[in-house]
Amino acid sequence: MRLGVGAALIDGRLVPGDVAVDDGRVTAVGLAGSGMGIAAPGFVDLQVNGFAGVDFLSADAAGYDAAGEALLETGVTGYLPTFITSGEDELTAALRAIPPQARGARVLGAHLEGPFISPHRLGTHPRDRRRDPDPELLEALLDAGPVRLVTLAPELPGALELVDRLLGRGIVVSLGHSNATAGEANAAFDRGVRTVTHVFNAMRPLTHRDPGIVGAALLRPDVVVQAIVDGIHLDPEIVRLVWKVAAGRVALVTDAVAAAGQGDGDYRLGAVDIGVLNGVVRRSDGVLAGSVLTMIEAVRNLVETGVPVERALEAASSVPAGVLGVDDAGRLQVGRRADVVVLDDGLEIRRVIVGGETRVAA
Ligand code: ZN
Repeated sequence: MRLGVGAALIDGRLVPGDVAVDDGRVTAVGLAGSGMGIAAPGFVDLQVNGFAGVDFLSADAAGYDAAGEALLETGVTGYLPTFITSGEDELTAALRAIPPQARGARVLGAHLEGPFISPHRLGTHPRDRRRDPDPELLEALLDAGPVRLVTLAPELPGALELVDRLLGRGIVVSLGHSNATAGEANAAFDRGVRTVTHVFNAMRPLTHRDPGIVGAALLRPDVVVQAIVDGIHLDPEIVRLVWKVAAGRVALVTDAVAAAGQGDGDYRLGAVDIGVLNGVVRRSDGVLAGSVLTMIEAVRNLVETGVPVERALEAASSVPAGVLGVDDAGRLQVGRRADVVVLDDGLEIRRVIVGGETRVAA
């Protein structure tokens, strides 16, 4: 099957020519032809709480199918369903409910955002479910389902022991919902942590005498900063600043909630009641509670701040895939799994291919 594109994004470069896909793999690039638009690697979203009316903390297999299909329409071909701080029973039940196979975008494992987070940086996470690091609880969670990434606060007592445990088992650790100083963050980075969750949001702020976790993460060339580029969580000028310092190591995430793709109204985020008004998601006390952002919108927003299209597409694909250390997602290369997004010059999605199958066509 030829995709009929004019170019493909391969290892960060736009390679002119068409792309061929057969048997679920990319079989050729740079083919002569007169196609239109760009083939980019399918997007990978590391933080999706819910989508299209589905809250993953309480979703069943049908919910995963519906959300997975809807995510595909936004260019996402792989994602981590994300569970915010919740009780042990809720988390283990949610982990067990992840279906081995679902329709649409591929589940690449679960993101546990908490419960080992700072009481000072809870954001919308429920205070009474927050826990100090507890190896036994961690093991119970890891046994319950396919945990791929854990967001934790490294300054908590015993947190570095959890970091060692997780990294030793090949699970990605991300620092977030944290009050860590730069020194505390660097201690975790020195231990092998390589990423932070929604930079600037729910973390100790950067100030001139206290660079904090934000300053530490931005300065380290070996750390990827995840960012919610929706125009609300980060001022566009801050996005430009982040990109100046960390170009090429920014991973776009949506932090989407069930309301994404639905419209204004009342929804749930785990045990938390949330409302959406004019596209902004808040708890009743006004605290931001995720987003209704889609990944293609995040790409467009990043481009609007002046980032070249190729780099913005990487921030939605190969960079987050690199955080996970997977080689069968987030890259468009001959011989690799064909998860591809076809975009026109206006960054509208024309087609999404997952595992070689075309699932969405404009
Ligand atoms: Zn969060």
